[in-house]
Amino acid sequence: MDLRYISTRGKAEAVSASVAVINGLCSDGGLYVPESIPRLSVGLDKLAELDYKETAYLVLKEFMTDYTEDELKHCINMAYDEKFDTPEIAPVKVGDEYSFLELFHGKTIAFKDMALSLLPHLLTTALKKNHIEEEVVILTATSGDTGKAALAGFADVEGTRIIVFYPKGGVSRFQELQMVTQKGKNVSVSSVKGNFDDCQSGVKNIFNDEEFRASLKEKGYILSSANSINIGRLFPQVAYYVYAYGRMVKNGSISCGDELNVSVPTGNFGNILAAYYAKQMGIPLGKLICASNENNVLYDFFKSGTYDKNREFILTSSPSMDILISSNLERLIYYLAGRDCDKTAAFMADLSKQGKYTLDKSMMDLAHDFVPEYATEDEVAATIHNVNEWMGYVIDPHTAVATAAASMYKSVFPTDNTPCLVVSTASPYKFTKSVMKAVDDEKPVYSTEGIVSLDDMDDFELIDKLHEISGVDIPNAVEEIRSAKILHDNVCEKEEMKAFVEKTLNK
Ligand SMILES: *Cc1c(COP(=O)(O)O)cnc(C)c1O
Repeated sequence: MDLRYISTRGKAEAVSASVAVINGLCSDGGLYVPESIPRLSVGLDKLAELDYKETAYLVLKEFMTDYTEDELKHCINMAYDEKFDTPEIAPVKVGDEYSFLELFHGKTIAFKDMALSLLPHLLTTALKKNHIEEEVVILTATSGDTGKAALAGFADVEGTRIIVFYPKGGVSRFQELQMVTQKGKNVSVSSVKGNFDDCQSGVKNIFNDEEFRASLKEKGYILSSANSINIGRLFPQVAYYVYAYGRMVKNGSISCGDELNVSVPTGNFGNILAAYYAKQMGIPLGKLICASNENNVLYDFFKSGTYDKNREFILTSSPSMDILISSNLERLIYYLAGRDCDKTAAFMADLSKQGKYTLDKSMMDLAHDFVPEYATEDEVAATIHNVNEWMGYVIDPHTAVATAAASMYKSVFPTDNTPCLVVSTASPYKFTKSVMKAVDDEKPVYSTEGIVSLDDMDDFELIDKLHEISGVDIPNAVEEIRSAKILHDNVCEKEEMKAFVEKTLNK
């Protein structure tokens, strides 16, 4: 029997994995969850011998049961290839205090590549399996990171088109360059004269425009999004926890069967939820440290049982975690509610009406695996500085949030000697200014112009400076952008986004 996927809110039809990948979101607004959580089919002692692709297959075959072995292996081979700058795909760096799971070796040097390299292949395979002939058009609004990862994932994938909108002036120069230099015959990028919210509403309006969708369908197109709530993004993330456990055994950091704590820099709650699934599958993970920045809505939730998004939104040096609604949390709420869909739906209704909901104590007791911590901007900078001083290892601000959280946990629970794996979600080369300021504080930077401040340097000057100081090779993905040709120079008004989609697809 195939594993079926049901809605956390209980009012949508149960579907197979491939249909859940195509649909993304359930028709009742809920998220797809598997009817039961499968266990791994091999013993823990076997994991150390498996490479990344073999591990990914081991995990995915349990969740994506209506895909054949050939289909899954094909998808995995297409995803985890030379796009990654190391054959290990997700290497573990061993340190004295913590080990680091590096998830930034893909095309955009950040962790969304882990899932967005695989999703396009899972999606096109799903369309074929379900006899959907239309070409799928991915529409994405981005504040920077997801857009480039989606572009890189979908570029030149047969049977797909991808269109990305970003706010003009609302992303960093480096992020903009990443997007406007994207190659691929099926990719289109346009900036929008407006902010990120305008881009997002524009995309939402296109999705909700039934008439427009019908006209696209006539032309042979269906719309989809590469949203982080899609099970095709969630389950590929389980694989790296299973892989990391095997690596930690292999490198002698733990013995097979030992517990391992993980500290995860958290925004939308997808990454840490994948750790939760890995634990349910049989990986002996101990505490799941949920690390937030100053947008600490999850910290308050795990401490008090109340999720309250009514608060100031703070811009931090870890922008991918600047989030007030963690959409994947709904899946955990469903489990804490004892898989009660009506209860889950009621909490989510409270969230949309009042911006908050409260779980009772007995439900929160079930969340005992999760330990919340958060780091302030000063703590993030100090952590980047200290980790570099202590182990000559340069980390980015997101990873620093998780590292700071891991040491806070350690100081609160000094008797827990379980080794801790810090999940490292971005290369320091992605956030060079914050990293340089933290690593190189107070040292003046000399140039032919005299002393220049870090604030006056452009992204590539900072990149060269960071290379000089850290000795870490500049990733290929960065070097490519330095010299790449600009291929997309579209700008549109917010009202013109639909017209841009039309024009692109009529070409
Ligand atoms: C998206 C992202 C996160 C947060 O991951 P979630 O799955 O949304 O919790 C953390 N770090 C980086 C660099 C990211 O891009």
